Amino acid sequence: MHPEQLAVSGVSKLTPYQPGKPIAELERELGISNIIKLASNENPLGPGPKALEAIQAESGSLHLYPDGGGFDLKAALAGKLGIDPAQITLGNGSNDVLELAARAFLSAETSAVFSQHAFAVYPIVTQAVGAHAHVAKAHDGTRGPLYGHDLDAMHQLIEEDTRLIFIANPNNPTGTYLGRDELAGFLKKVPAHALTVVDEAYFEYVSEPDYPNTLEWLECYPNLIVTRTFSKAYGLAGLRVGYAVSSLCIADLLNRVRQPFNVNSLALVAAKAALSDDGHLQRTVLLNHEGLGLLTEALAKRGLSHIPSVGNFITADVGRVALPVYEALLREGVIVRPIANYGLPNHLRVTVGTKKENQVFLSALDRVLAL
Ligand SMILES: *Cc1c(COP(=O)(O)O)cnc(C)c1O
Repeated sequence: MHPEQLAVSGVSKLTPYQPGKPIAELERELGISNIIKLASNENPLGPGPKALEAIQAESGSLHLYPDGGGFDLKAALAGKLGIDPAQITLGNGSNDVLELAARAFLSAETSAVFSQHAFAVYPIVTQAVGAHAHVAKAHDGTRGPLYGHDLDAMHQLIEEDTRLIFIANPNNPTGTYLGRDELAGFLKKVPAHALTVVDEAYFEYVSEPDYPNTLEWLECYPNLIVTRTFSKAYGLAGLRVGYAVSSLCIADLLNRVRQPFNVNSLALVAAKAALSDDGHLQRTVLLNHEGLGLLTEALAKRGLSHIPSVGNFITADVGRVALPVYEALLREGVIVRPIANYGLPNHLRVTVGTKKENQVFLSALDRVLAL
């Protein structure tokens, strides 16, 4: 028998996650240099100095296994967030934690609910464990932000067999977010047989006054799982480290399915150091704020509509099928993200870069759109 036929059905039908194109790959393909990548919502300032120092200091101990319990990082997170370290589940990126949730709570007999245009990892982890996916229509712009999560529509899709609900706040690739009252109103209505994962990968970037502090809700909503990451604002995407915060009971279950050493030792020390580097985080958030403003205005000036974003990226409607625009930008040495796979074939997602990178992108866009 062909191995394809031997795979479990969820896996044989799975389309893998499509990452942003790596710089080195485009270099190989086109033989050009000075490429800029605004495709994966990475921090344009890079890792902070404290994280780099911690990595240096740890490098002589690479022959040792990491601390599988992540004691120091959990203690630092717990102190910063005002929670019990035992409420934390560390992951090899928050992606890992999303997968742990799927493995712990989903099966072929159960289902998950998420929104149209939501982060691509939710359908993947759901399908990989053979669970059913109920995909809610996104807002059409009348009762909430166009393309944003419609929590009423999501609520209507919760079935007896639903065990997980994935909410990205803010969502990638739309950049839309849910306010405190709206999200709390939804959580109140979720039946006791379902857990809600609120994915806050862009938490540090959001300054909207009605953006919820979900960690405060863990006591009144015991079925809540909040996930965050060091990949975005903390600038450590290459190290792969993220975490979930939940009740002690849920954390215990998630930790049962975790690989014993899922977070490597450099990631553990770098993440801990990054948490204490307020300066780097402030510079990151400020640069993003300015860049997001600049890109938003620049897109409007060019007559291109965009989805209002509170993240470190902006998604623009290029007014035509976006793939050729993406490809022409590649030839200009600018990597952005086509998002047809998210049901948005005319949109491109652009990560906010440095001032220089934003200008390079806009100049390249002008040349490409004039073609
Ligand atoms: C980038 C991202 C993540 C996490 O990425 P990791 O690098 O695995 O931590 C999670 N959720 C959303 C919505 C994202 O955009």
